[in-house]
Amino acid sequence: MVTKRNNIKNFTRQNLREWFKKNEKPQISTKPFRADQIFKWLYQKRVESFDKMLNIGQGTREILENHFYVCSLKVSNKFKSRDGSIKFQILLDDSNIIETVFLPHKNHNTICVSSQVGCAMGCDFCMTAKMGLIRNLNPSEIINQIFAVRKELPNAKNIRNIVFMGMGEPFHNYKNLMQALEILTDEHGFNFSHRRITVSTSGLLPKIKIFGFEKIKANLAVSLNGVTNAVRTKLMPVNKSYNLEKLIKACSEFPLESRKRITFEYVLIRGLTDSIEDAKNLIKLLHGLKFKINLIPYNSTPSSKYDSPSPEQARMFQKYLLDHKIIAPLRISKGQDIQGACGQLAVENMRRIEYLI
Ligand code: SAH
Ligand code: SF4
Repeated sequence: MVTKRNNIKNFTRQNLREWFKKNEKPQISTKPFRADQIFKWLYQKRVESFDKMLNIGQGTREILENHFYVCSLKVSNKFKSRDGSIKFQILLDDSNIIETVFLPHKNHNTICVSSQVGCAMGCDFCMTAKMGLIRNLNPSEIINQIFAVRKELPNAKNIRNIVFMGMGEPFHNYKNLMQALEILTDEHGFNFSHRRITVSTSGLLPKIKIFGFEKIKANLAVSLNGVTNAVRTKLMPVNKSYNLEKLIKACSEFPLESRKRITFEYVLIRGLTDSIEDAKNLIKLLHGLKFKINLIPYNSTPSSKYDSPSPEQARMFQKYLLDHKIIAPLRISKGQDIQGACGQLAVENMRRIEYLI
């Protein structure tokens, strides 16, 4: 009898234990540490086949071989920007392509991962929105982006931050997101600190409400982008269902660990969101919350209907916030020349770029 094999990287350690129990594999299920060992091989030693799991007995390996497989993803293209950031296009088994961006900083590196192929949220200013939602990524595909980038950049040690700011709305793929976070933060898995993981949402309220009470306390980022309902609804259709008042209320109820803040992302669009009046309203809107604001000058593309703010206007906007004691880094968009910056992760819309590798 041919059994359908399971992708082992879609299993959390707990799932794996349960599977062994349910499928009556007493050799494994009576030894809970087996799942720990398997996890270490997969995520710390990064082996890609069961026969390399040396401290796991022959019998167990055979069971694994018969019921599971280890998959990895291949980078199909990479584009290096002048500022050092690298965009990877990663090929999925069904021939879809997702994008993952590596962002080097002075002392550490950040990796920006995708959670879906495309996105259903339809934000008016975002290139990924133009693809529509093709499908969700499974936990294995979320995690394997990190493996794939690490493999390509063996010298890039110290990937310190993981941000879910690539393609897709992570909270629209909640179950798989949470499973991926569990594997990433598992001490026997990636053992990545939850403090170094940030999930960015366009504002799916029901999920914001439950995310704060999950056992994995990753950081929350909320894409705000408009300070009035009229402007935010124009930019982000999600605002029709969950307007600013509801969003801010949910943020004020979000449980924060000490020293943590909610990050609000605020895209500066010329003539629409970049006035000093907007800055004033932004402060009013967020009054009473523990937050910081990432200011992102809009990345325009040849086909976009909005314009980037002038550098002077962006700086004035920032200065107004800083003068009011607000933490407001102005994100000089990394990777603009490779269309790897925020909102530009749309595979079919690649501009002519500097193809280095
Ligand atoms: N879907 C999630 C995460 C991915 S988008 C979310 O919306 O939060 C990551 C960030 O890029 C968001 O804050 C979004 O507002 C911003 N963004 C999208 N398109 C952009 C563009 N063209 N220029 C600058 N920022 C953009
Ligand atoms: Fe989706 Fe985020 Fe783009 Fe909106 S900004 S379409 S939620 S990826």
